Amino acid sequence: MKFSTKAIHAGNNPDPSTGAVNVPIYATSTYADEAYGVSKGYDYGRTINPTRVALETNLAALENAKYGFAFSSGMGATHAVASLLQKGDHVIVSQNVYGGTYRIFERIFRKMGLDFSWVDTSIKIEIENALKPHTKMIFVETPTNPMLSLTDLLMISDFAKINKLISVCDNTFMSPYFQNPLDFGIDVVVHSTTKYINGHSDAIGGFAATGREDIAEQLKFIQNSVGAVPSPFDCYLVLRATKTLALRMERHNLNAMKIAVELHENYKDKIKKVYYPGLKSHPQHELAKKQMRGFGGMISVDLGSLNNAVKFFNGLKIFSRAESLGGVESLICHPVSMTHGAVPKEEREKFGLTDGLVRLSVGIEDYEDLIEDIKNALDEIK
Ligand SMILES: *Cc1c(COP(=O)(O)O)cnc(C)c1O
Repeated sequence: MKFSTKAIHAGNNPDPSTGAVNVPIYATSTYADEAYGVSKGYDYGRTINPTRVALETNLAALENAKYGFAFSSGMGATHAVASLLQKGDHVIVSQNVYGGTYRIFERIFRKMGLDFSWVDTSIKIEIENALKPHTKMIFVETPTNPMLSLTDLLMISDFAKINKLISVCDNTFMSPYFQNPLDFGIDVVVHSTTKYINGHSDAIGGFAATGREDIAEQLKFIQNSVGAVPSPFDCYLVLRATKTLALRMERHNLNAMKIAVELHENYKDKIKKVYYPGLKSHPQHELAKKQMRGFGGMISVDLGSLNNAVKFFNGLKIFSRAESLGGVESLICHPVSMTHGAVPKEEREKFGLTDGLVRLSVGIEDYEDLIEDIKNALDEIK
């Protein structure tokens, strides 16, 4: 079955008691047994909920995974994945991951005895050099935020198999519509469903999926033990949203491509650099075409100085000035002062994260209006 058919039908069976075509919001904390030892397979709401089961079935199908688990946030999903490890284990992580991932690894899991090495996972030799006798996991994010640099998923899964590591990919930026890490042999895929998967900026959620039964059993155990589960209402919202994921991603991609080309070709005087994997000028454009089916809706633009970035930032009218990404509405973020304030200046400038860099989350409005908005804001820069 192809993507949109799965998105609309997987997990969405008509309700057996009424025939309702939409999965009901099962707002219940517990379930009654018919008699001693006779239940319908449901016992307690943290452990299992039919709306959540529908969402997990749906998202697992979209990631070509056998098993899927929904969480109350993307960080809840990442927490569950890191909880697969034990005291003394070492993890190799992409140096440029989501800030919250850095925080939970360094500030929560390190004090519980896990060890982390932060490396440029797009370079094989860096990964090989980071390997320790007790390395147990490699955790990558591709493309990265906000530099949009890519890691070769096949290279990572081969490296993980040879060294008996669990390989994990945070696939939030691409969504399952454009990239399926498990198809490249990655063991676990995680998502912040808050972003593209839900896409309407009205719910926080996370998801983890795997094809490995041993990992699935542990994730199920952790999900139930820790209890970072989404509410039935949030499950309903996300389940509703995936029905249009393909349409939304196509439009995000189209709009971002139009904007990236326009900025790259027509504003050489005002723009130092445009980062978008869909541009031929992107150093990993060939890898992008190999492991992604589209290039997504995120663009980063280096305007050369903080002064220029601020003028552009304040000059936009349709783009809202906000963190987060992946919603139907366009957003602009200034990473250095917003999402990446904690990264030391020398560190961030090494990988191109300058004071003049802004990140666009291109929404699904009409691109003509977005380009007009951008042109007007660029006029603010003399
Ligand atoms: C937002 C985000 C997360 C965290 O997800 P929450 O739903 O905010 O907890 C993790 N990874 C990436 C790439 C993100 O963008």
